Amino acid sequence: MVDDPIVAAARLVQGANKTIALTGAGVSTESGIPDFRSKGGLWSRFDPMEYGTFGAFQRDPVKVWRMVAELLAIVEARPNKGHMAMAALEEAGLLAGIITQNIDSLHQKAGSRNVVEFHGTLASFTCLPCQAGYPLSLIKGQALPPLCPRCRAVLKPDVVFFDEEIPAAALMRSRDLVHQADLLIVAGTSCAVEPAATFPETVLAQGGKLIEINKEPVLTGKAEVVLKGGFVQMMTELAVWLQRDV
Ligand SMILES: [Zn+2]
Repeated sequence: MVDDPIVAAARLVQGANKTIALTGAGVSTESGIPDFRSKGGLWSRFDPMEYGTFGAFQRDPVKVWRMVAELLAIVEARPNKGHMAMAALEEAGLLAGIITQNIDSLHQKAGSRNVVEFHGTLASFTCLPCQAGYPLSLIKGQALPPLCPRCRAVLKPDVVFFDEEIPAAALMRSRDLVHQADLLIVAGTSCAVEPAATFPETVLAQGGKLIEINKEPVLTGKAEVVLKGGFVQMMTELAVWLQRDV
């Protein structure tokens, strides 16, 4: 069927010079990570202003770690078949890179290599006083909150708190990707938060096209193809059409 949206999406990917993806919480829910902003999600249980800001961390890092300790459960999550499908497309030269708002490293665990995490990551930690960086492996098995082995200060996860700037390097890399793209796959995000909110507009403004994969689409009328449904199902169907095994 020619008007099957999956086929239409596959044709867009095949015809594009440079396809990139923008992903958010919705791509990880099927890996068992609830959307932090959802009802019952992390931010309904921990006030973002009290637990989710750099200011709060500076005032009382031990308190903020009560929230981070819960967040740490996501490092055990496994990538789903949608993550795998994106990695397979990159491997096949059909996806140039992924910009993600997620901090769960699931794209990398699935095998994706060019991933920009502009909200940071839970895979590493920094000691603010001495600026030493530590991998997650140092934290595992340690009592929480973890302390810097050198100066005993409480370590900060390398996630971007609400009142922090997006790291300049991540912002630059994502802008580079967006400016070169003629096709953007928006998946599992409502594009409500800057700078992600402007990426679809930028791609459209430079003559590119959008594919949206969302259970509740937000780009109807802007996206060339809307795949309304779950990330795993839509991404695997797309990969199958592009004849890539997942
Ligand atoms: Zn230190």
